[in-house]
Amino acid sequence: MGTRLRTPEDRTCERCGREETWDEDDGVWRIVREDGERRVGDPYCIHEWDITGEFSPIEEY
Ligand SMILES: [Zn+2]
Repeated sequence: MGTRLRTPEDRTCERCGREETWDEDDGVWRIVREDGERRVGDPYCIHEWDITGEFSPIEEY
């Protein structure tokens, strides 16, 4: 049993469908590519990220 810090690794915008994934090496969000297409969504969107389902500050195992 233990706990560790956990950070979100993926996030999707609820408004435009933009998908990003966390790049640990550079510490930045990167746009997800799917079938060679970037899931960039709407560049003018005020993104509303749906990460609550993925994000849990403490993970028990
Ligand atoms: Zn968006």
